[in-house]
Amino acid sequence: MKLTILGSGTSVPHAKRASPSHWLETSKGSLLLDISADAAHRMAQEQLDWPNLDAIWISHFHLDHMGGIVPFLFGSKWAPQTQSRTKPLRIFGPNGFRPIIDAMNDSNNYELLKQPFPVEIVEVGPGAEFEIFPGVAVTTFSTPHTEESLALRLKDSKLFVYTSDTGFSEDLISFAKDVDLLLMECSFRRNKPVQKHLELVDAMNLARECAPKKLVLTHLYPEWDDVDLVAEARALWSGETIEATDGLRLEI
Ligand SMILES: [Zn+2]
Ligand SMILES: [Zn+2]
Repeated sequence: MKLTILGSGTSVPHAKRASPSHWLETSKGSLLLDISADAAHRMAQEQLDWPNLDAIWISHFHLDHMGGIVPFLFGSKWAPQTQSRTKPLRIFGPNGFRPIIDAMNDSNNYELLKQPFPVEIVEVGPGAEFEIFPGVAVTTFSTPHTEESLALRLKDSKLFVYTSDTGFSEDLISFAKDVDLLLMECSFRRNKPVQKHLELVDAMNLARECAPKKLVLTHLYPEWDDVDLVAEARALWSGETIEATDGLRLEI
């Protein structure tokens, strides 16, 4: 698999970190992990094949993770590159996603789900197990962030977990154990102002227990600017930690 970081930042506007979005190329299709307001143009900037994107995973309803769904669907409806597309686009979101997309759509009769190609909305709950693409199995985990927020574990030829936003949870350890790449939030450096996110020591305690082959820390608030995140991480866990940066491409 191949992972491209489109946005390593948060909801806070930032010159170098777009809001959260990550492109995962599996053996059976492409999956966009969260669709922030920056995502559509970031896909184009990275020259990714966005007109043929197969699926979108929306982890929760905070707008830094799903605020781009309306502009993306508006763009894909009218873009020259999608007019001859026939294969479906599947959008996976937590339970309760359907009424939100319907309300956004109905606010101005955009008809966003009437695209040149079929669009399917699939609502997913915690503890779900299904194939996101034929032969690519995923499971979900309810994270302590919002009522609906979900982490995703995906098995292709390798194992991958995306925590998205989460507070600390012992239960996350078994969910994310022994994966090839763990894409984890690390919102804050220290003295986190809220329990529903991780700070570095939380993230590294999870990393020590999960023992991923590679750890990628993302969802970085501006307080990480000019801090050597990797050096601080290494002091707490000796495994391979990578700081997410926009445009970074990794093989899994
Ligand atoms: Zn967020
Ligand atoms: Zn959030």
